[in-house]
Amino acid sequence: LTAQDLTQQTLDDINAKEDKLNAFITVNDKAVDDAKKIDEKGINGRLSGIPIAIKDNIVTNGIKTTAASKILYNFMPVYSATVLEKLENAGAIDIGKTNLDEFAMGSSTETSHFGTTKNPWDFSRVPGGSSGGSAAAVASGDVVAALGTDTGGSIRQPAAFNGIFGIKPTYGRVSRWGVIAFASSLDQVGVMSKRVEDSAEVLSVIAGHDDHDSTSSEKEVPDYRANLNKDMTGVKIAVPKEFYHEGTHPDVLDNVNKALDAYKKMGATVEEVSLPSLKHAVEVYYILASSEASSNLQRYDGVRYGYRAKDVKNIKDLFVNSRSEGFGDEVKRRIMLGTFALSAGAYDAYFKKAAQVRTIFINEMTDVLKDYDLIMGPSTTTPAFKIGEKVDDPLAMYMNDILTIPANLAGLPAASVPAGLADGMPVGLQIIGKPFAEQDVFNAAYALQ
Ligand code: GLN
Repeated sequence: LTAQDLTQQTLDDINAKEDKLNAFITVNDKAVDDAKKIDEKGINGRLSGIPIAIKDNIVTNGIKTTAASKILYNFMPVYSATVLEKLENAGAIDIGKTNLDEFAMGSSTETSHFGTTKNPWDFSRVPGGSSGGSAAAVASGDVVAALGTDTGGSIRQPAAFNGIFGIKPTYGRVSRWGVIAFASSLDQVGVMSKRVEDSAEVLSVIAGHDDHDSTSSEKEVPDYRANLNKDMTGVKIAVPKEFYHEGTHPDVLDNVNKALDAYKKMGATVEEVSLPSLKHAVEVYYILASSEASSNLQRYDGVRYGYRAKDVKNIKDLFVNSRSEGFGDEVKRRIMLGTFALSAGAYDAYFKKAAQVRTIFINEMTDVLKDYDLIMGPSTTTPAFKIGEKVDDPLAMYMNDILTIPANLAGLPAASVPAGLADGMPVGLQIIGKPFAEQDVFNAAYALQ
């Protein structure tokens, strides 16, 4: 099998399903040419000739990058994100750009300007979000791996909803250069795949220091796949009692408990702990993430790139109309919330307080990880919900993130691994590790797979 054949086959697979699935915003029509070059050069990269799908908030030189927003509907980047350069150097084929919630704000892919992605398990349900397109592309068998981003759960929640593996690395493990910013203190690129091995391989390729991103770590990147190990003997697992959130589907709890029992049988210890501030995590996250978003999204003004309003009389109208027409409702909601939380009269009561509670929460997580190797619990409270079910109820949608937000606030590596079914839909077990202990997270997931 040549890279060209595999790429052509992948494109055919994608095209045969796209009408129903809508996992991609743009399919890379140059992919077969790229694969041909790999065949000719015979590059022996770690991912030579492997098609990988890329979330459409990661910029790609010469391929339209939209962040699923009308405001970037025609944005053609003139450079590629560092993660993509690394993938390309390893021989991977960028097969196309996957659908997401607009600017990665959402949990269902329903806020995309390009229509909702469907869950391949049941087309009447959401694939989760915001990396819903990447998750659906992997779960439907289009690609072995996809890149996503995770600011408050956007890799783990869709991974759980689609019955696949997904990992958000430690904050700073992967460069954010060329990743369209949502909330810069929380955003991280990660990987989704059916098999743990494939995400381990891809993460080793994309991780590492980057001069373009001063928050990226200088720490050496391990070979996660070569070091995979199923031995759970003596591993100490903490289960926060607050992760057993009210309203959690009983089959989700049942499956998570079964997974924890399996770890015990493998020789791990499992103990209950408490994270008392978890009850404030959703409020803290939505104040901080929206504040950062309101600042990051100032750059979309209709002047430099993207959508530009027509028939404007002056520069103010140009700004106002371009933004009013270009952003969707959820993005506007976040910009208003964030602008308010950062305003002179509200800063102390909202932004500053949220930043302080974040620190308290980080300390609670750090304390638990002094005594334990891993924190575990459900990835989500329910399996994938129906399309349309929560779209008019932002608070219900936000509460959906309660179990995934903690790892982002504390910058910790965290994954979701398939753990049974509820209502015939997949359930995810969440595994959170110590800073830069991605290997421990991979190993625990690998042991369960
Ligand atoms: N659902 C969360 C939000 O809407 C998380 C999104 C994400 O991780 N990008 O903000």
